Amino acid sequence: MVSVELDSLLTDLDDGVREVLSSSPTVLERSDPDLNDIKGAGSSTWLKIPDVVAVVADLRNSSRLGTGRHDVSTAKIYQSSVDGAVKVFHDFDANFIDIQGDGGFGLFWGQSAYERAFCAAVTVRSFSSLLVKQLESKYGGSGSFPETGYKVGMAADRVLVKTIGSPRDVAEQEAVWPGRAVNHAVKCAQSATRHQIVVTESLWNHFKENDFVTTSCGCSNGVPGSDVTDLWKEFEIEHIHDEDYRHGYVLESPWCKKHGAEFCSAILAGETTREITEQARRALQLNQMRAALETKRVRRNKYPR
Ligand SMILES: [Zn+2]
Repeated sequence: MVSVELDSLLTDLDDGVREVLSSSPTVLERSDPDLNDIKGAGSSTWLKIPDVVAVVADLRNSSRLGTGRHDVSTAKIYQSSVDGAVKVFHDFDANFIDIQGDGGFGLFWGQSAYERAFCAAVTVRSFSSLLVKQLESKYGGSGSFPETGYKVGMAADRVLVKTIGSPRDVAEQEAVWPGRAVNHAVKCAQSATRHQIVVTESLWNHFKENDFVTTSCGCSNGVPGSDVTDLWKEFEIEHIHDEDYRHGYVLESPWCKKHGAEFCSAILAGETTREITEQARRALQLNQMRAALETKRVRRNKYPR
C-alpha cells in the first residue's frame, strides 16, 4: 500500500515554489541547438531558441472514436493515425517530436525550418484524407462513424526550453516549451476543422510571396486544365483570446496527386517563384482586391454613417 507523508509533501511543494521564484535562472541563447543542449531537470538554465516553428496535429473527435467499439479496434485507430503523423514529422526532419494520445507536435528550427514545417503540415493534411478513407471503409461511412481526420495548426515564435520533472528519474522528466509557438499552434489546430491547416499571421507572412505555397497548380483532383487560384483564405483563430494574434489563414488543399512531389521539393529547396502567366496573376490580384472591397462593403452595411 502506498504511504504518503502528506503534511511534509505539501511543505516540500510550498518550499519548492519559493525556491524557484526567488532564484534567477540563466538563459542561454542558441539559434540551432542540438537536443543534447537542452538542460536537465536538475539545472536552472533555460535554453532560448529565437525562431521555432511548431506544427500540431490534432485528431478530430478522438475521444468519441472508441465509444461502443472493441478495445482492439480503438487501439488500431489510434495507432494508425498517430504513427502516420509522427512518421511525417520524422521524415521532414523535425528537430523535436512530442507524441500525444491522439496526435502530437513537431518542432522545427535551424536550416529551412519554415519550409520543412510547412511541407510536413501539408503532408499530414494529405495523410488525413487517406486515413479517413480507410477508417470509413472499415468501420462504416458517415453517421455510423464519428467524423474524424487531422486538424493541423502552425505558429512560430521564440521559445524557452528545459527538461522538467523528478530530478533523479528520467522516466518522469519531459522537455517543456513555454511560449507562443506551441501554444498558438495548438489553438490554431483547435480552431480548425478536419482536413484544414490553420496558421497565424506571422507564419503566413513568411510565405505570402511564395508562389508554391500561395497559389494552386491549376489542377482539379490531380487533373490539369483549371484556373490557377489562391489556395488560402483569411481565418479567425477563435481559440486565441488575445485580439492581436487572432487573425490567421486557412488552407484546405492536400498535395496535388500530379504536382505534389514537385511542389514539395521546390519548397524544401527554397524556391519561391513559378511561371504563372501575367493574366493568371492579375486574376489572383483581382480576387484579393475583390475580397478587400467586399469586406469594406460589409463593414459599411454594418456601420452606416
Ligand atoms: Zn496539380
